[in-house]
Amino acid sequence: MTVGEFDLIRRFFSANTHHHAGTLLGIGDDCALIHCRAGMSLAVTVDTLVSGVHFLPDVAPESLGHKALAVNLSDLAAMGAEPAWATLALSLPDVDEAWLAAFARGFFTLAGRHGLQLIGGDTTRGPLSITIQVIGQVPADCALRRSGAKVGDIIYVSGSLGAAGLGLKMRLGQHPNSEGPALSALEWPEPRIGLGQSLQGIASACIDISDGLAADLGHILTASQVGACIDVQKLPLLPRVRDYITLHDDWRLPLTAGDDYELCFTVPHENLTALTAVVANSGLSVSAIGRIEAEPGLRVLYQEHYIHLNGTGYDHFKHAESSQK
Ligand code: ADP
Ligand code: MG
Repeated sequence: MTVGEFDLIRRFFSANTHHHAGTLLGIGDDCALIHCRAGMSLAVTVDTLVSGVHFLPDVAPESLGHKALAVNLSDLAAMGAEPAWATLALSLPDVDEAWLAAFARGFFTLAGRHGLQLIGGDTTRGPLSITIQVIGQVPADCALRRSGAKVGDIIYVSGSLGAAGLGLKMRLGQHPNSEGPALSALEWPEPRIGLGQSLQGIASACIDISDGLAADLGHILTASQVGACIDVQKLPLLPRVRDYITLHDDWRLPLTAGDDYELCFTVPHENLTALTAVVANSGLSVSAIGRIEAEPGLRVLYQEHYIHLNGTGYDHFKHAESSQK
């Protein structure tokens, strides 16, 4: 790294970060040093966003800085973990200071709200890509895994579904509107950190919805070796998403469009009262959409008939395989 590049990191990244009490050494040395609170486990996850694959090349850099971090924080939320640290690997085609300042603003505004400290990273020249690793803390036996759903548990989702999918249609010019909550859902997703932590001891399994409800609930079913039945009429939908579904008679937006970053979780009957109390405190809505069953697979009900899903979500490698055929 040259002096100029180091100056860039200092100005845009190390100067802006929040300080976490468990950090012994942050940006500037060969490694950061962190200290986990007694009795806590580290929850670690990483995601890469590539221009043209995960975001449109002309996306506003401030919302990109927000979203690149939000998708990682969403994984911590799904585990019930409390955010603590992040590292950031940036590949940049050139040094555009206005772009970097806006990207950093989006990143640090969200990081600050969750007490997250940026403790290191890497900066290289190349096609625009952003890799963020986040580290959280969670009592090991309270982490929300995908594998704990049991027959009879109720399936819930937070917030509403399909909004980001509709926002993407707006961005691509495939929908007459081009503003409002659907576009915010796509560009400014809100990781459900508070809800995730409050589901410790209440949810039997949890996942965040990044690739569409059908695919992500499917991961819970596989990991828990169970099946499920959900009723599409119980899915929480923004009015504009509901209008789109009615107009096109197409349920794919809430079932298979990605990028919602809501939580999907299962709750045993004995914890339903505790869930009601937690939800009342969280300021978020949650909706019961179905039930865990013994028979493997996901069944989707609409007016008492099963509907067939045409593809279950966004799978990068499946797309690549089918396009080679
Ligand atoms: P090294 O050669 O040891 O990998 P670098 O010269 O790449 O170190 O980085 C110097 C310091 O700056 C390190 O502490 C590294 O973690 C930090 N750093 C580099 N790029 C970034 C970035 N994009 N965001 C945050 N910290 C960064
Ligand atoms: Mg390096």
